[in-house]
Amino acid sequence: SREIRLRSRPQGLPTPDNFSLEQTELGSLQDGEVLVRNLFMSVDPYMRGRMNEGQSYVPAFELDKPLSGGAIGEVIESRDAALVPGDIVTSGYGWREYFLAVAHELHKVENPVQPLSVYLGALGMTGMTAWAGLSLVEVKAGDVVYISGAAGAVGSVAGQLAQLRGARVIGSAGSAEKVAFLKTECGFASAFNYHDAPVLDQLQREAPSGIDVYFDNIGGTTLEAALSALRVGGRIVACGGISSYNNTAPAPGPSNLFLMTTKRLTMRGLIVSDWLGKQGVFEEEVGSYLRSGKLLNKETVVQGIDKAVGAFIGLFSGENLGKMIVALS
Ligand code: NDP
Repeated sequence: SREIRLRSRPQGLPTPDNFSLEQTELGSLQDGEVLVRNLFMSVDPYMRGRMNEGQSYVPAFELDKPLSGGAIGEVIESRDAALVPGDIVTSGYGWREYFLAVAHELHKVENPVQPLSVYLGALGMTGMTAWAGLSLVEVKAGDVVYISGAAGAVGSVAGQLAQLRGARVIGSAGSAEKVAFLKTECGFASAFNYHDAPVLDQLQREAPSGIDVYFDNIGGTTLEAALSALRVGGRIVACGGISSYNNTAPAPGPSNLFLMTTKRLTMRGLIVSDWLGKQGVFEEEVGSYLRSGKLLNKETVVQGIDKAVGAFIGLFSGENLGKMIVALS
């Protein structure tokens, strides 16, 4: 089996030589364990933080050890009564083709829907982040909602769900193709390319009387523009800040943070793992939208574990439309 290890800690944007692809022996299956072949693995922006030294809200990856992350695979052999060969399981054992694990560490997917990669996207961690973020600030009919990083995994689901709740959604993304995708395939009320003109100018054009909610995936100058565009009493979901993940020195904060006070804004931090107790409610709501075709689970799929590092690095230049997925089988 092959796995990807962290060879050195990236300085700034990661490069391929921060990683190595290694052959590994799996050892023999013990009582209570299963052997799993991964079918798909996830690459996610938060993994960049884990490549640095020191703990953030998740522990740092260790050097010369395999990386970890979301994955979905098939049980090949089992020495536990809870799982049988052919069962589909999600796990945190990404970045490897096969693995041995204690059965109860894995989550069995009952009656899986296809493609199975949806459990890493709209029905997985990123979909749950989108859903939890809208719940956190109680997005409702009539709200004008601005979502940055809108053509990505979290943003594209958050925008579609907000539209389904009757909000008017404005999205921003980094290419004309992504803007077209948001308007035609995701049903956003409007969308713009943040490279075309300053974000605040484009927000004022799309929402002349301001926005009620800002779903932040980017931070930095995008957050600064959104603070200016928010109405009195507005709400912010502080979900992500990818514009600073590769910074080697602290970025200057939004210069207009005092608008939090004068506009009586609410900004709420989001960590998706706090919402695991609500997983059933999330799966029911989002699963029914997927089955009825009201929600699109867009993906960019690359093939093979040798493409995983490139897929991860590509998140920082916007190479993905929707969820970035690595197919392993
Ligand atoms: P995406 O699928 O959105 O991929 C990242 C996208 O970010 C790229 O496609 C790119 O799109 C955009 N991007 C990259 N660098 C920049 C930059 N410097 N400025 C502006 N845009 C940039 O990733 P996810 O949907 O998985 O994650 C979105 C955000 O949500 C991230 O910040 C992530 O850390 C956060 N998150 C937070 C969670 C939580 O619990 N709080 C859980 C999951 C995710 P483009 O072409 O438009 O530039």
